[in-house]
Amino acid sequence: MHITIIGTGYVGLVSGAGLADFGMKVFCVDKDEEKINKLKNGIIPFYEPGLEELVKKNVKANRLFFTTNLEEAVKNSLVVFICVGTPPNPDGSADLSQIKEVALSLAEIIDEYKVIVTKSTVPVGTNRWIKNLIDSNKKTSVAVDIISNPEFLREGSAVEDFMHPDRVVIGGESSYAIAIIKDIYRPLYLAETPFIITNLETAELIKYATNAFLATKISFINEIANFCEKVGADVTTVAKGIGIDPRIGSKFLNPGPGFGGSCLPKDVKSLIHQGRKVSSPFRLLEAVIEVNEKQKLRVIEKLEKFLGDLKDKTIGILGLSFKPNTSDVRESPALSIIPVLLEKGAKVKVYDPVAMEEFRKAAKGLNIEYASDPLNCATQTDGLVLLTEWNEFRFLNLSQLKKVMKNPLIIDMRNIYEPSVVKSLGFSYEGIGRL
Ligand code: NAD
Repeated sequence: MHITIIGTGYVGLVSGAGLADFGMKVFCVDKDEEKINKLKNGIIPFYEPGLEELVKKNVKANRLFFTTNLEEAVKNSLVVFICVGTPPNPDGSADLSQIKEVALSLAEIIDEYKVIVTKSTVPVGTNRWIKNLIDSNKKTSVAVDIISNPEFLREGSAVEDFMHPDRVVIGGESSYAIAIIKDIYRPLYLAETPFIITNLETAELIKYATNAFLATKISFINEIANFCEKVGADVTTVAKGIGIDPRIGSKFLNPGPGFGGSCLPKDVKSLIHQGRKVSSPFRLLEAVIEVNEKQKLRVIEKLEKFLGDLKDKTIGILGLSFKPNTSDVRESPALSIIPVLLEKGAKVKVYDPVAMEEFRKAAKGLNIEYASDPLNCATQTDGLVLLTEWNEFRFLNLSQLKKVMKNPLIIDMRNIYEPSVVKSLGFSYEGIGRL
């Protein structure tokens, strides 16, 4: 089976390498020449554990290819996966311009039967729209089938998630095309991964409903954490106590500085927008976003509680990626918090184990000092804020840290330190929702 993947970002590259590992011949296409050149030279354009090895293995086995030539790749493939970005528009709706561009290019190229599979997260109804776009613009009368196959991988564990997913969702109308996609995922089927076969709209909505539910869990526990601080309860124990109930589940019950990343914020906003369009408002999700926006500013409140006016105070920030094990800084809490600190007149130093380069690009124009390591980041600061729970931050030498700080204050927005231990070392310390 020959496959084309359009869009070689987090989803496209992991899916391409994963499908090649299943034994298929995969052509990964991107319009970003620099990205394709890097990949041809064995350089992975972003940090994702295990991906480099998987890519190298499959390139060496002559199953994985990188190109900017869409036509050649598509002509050689029966199945074409669309993995381009669907970023948010200012009104919260999904920007489908990359999808539209791909659909129109495919219409130009296709001259024999193809199965077009949408892996990008797209609003309900988009797959039908893509099929209509291709059908009404293609040059020949050949048939094209469309399949919705949303992706659930998580950055930081994307390879593992692709190889061992919780489920595979396949939405479509053509039983022939569904059978082809099931065949592609046969190694997972044999490993007893649940397959959900449904119509296009249901498959599209499963993706949004999943992310909306996860975001709801995070905003819920963040509000519980804020309440804990007022009433003397401990959120860590509350989360444990409720998560043990199988109807609730223990995952996604960690309070923090608000959710970020390239998926949760944009997908929740898009679903809200989709609901409004058909007069079926998502009032709960509107609150989820509002709670999240407020949560990002809790760090500022906590710093002001200890330091008063932040003007001319130096604040160190540990963790710039939106979560550990990724270099992705899209909608990371750091990107929301740092501009507020700067506005208040604070000086800001930052450090992240892998996301420094991406953060520099995203924070262009902001007057920030980039530190070489955590100790350097803490040096001469009035307070140190932990935003991302990278493992290397869990084992910092706190006594050494205290020596270099101007004022020994730690605001731990991920609750990775034991409050009594940190305080016993002479720090002022505050986590989130903890005693
Ligand atoms: P990304 O921005 O990392 O990658 C998208 C790629 O598509 C880029 O390399 C871009 O150059 C390329 N591209 C855009 N237009 C193109 C065109 N016309 N031809 C060829 N290439 C083109 O995006 P991503 O994070 O991989 O996300 C892709 C989609 O998958 C989005 O809809 C996203 O919501 C969804 N998704 C992402 C994740 C995640 O964790 N990142 C997880 C599940 C689903």
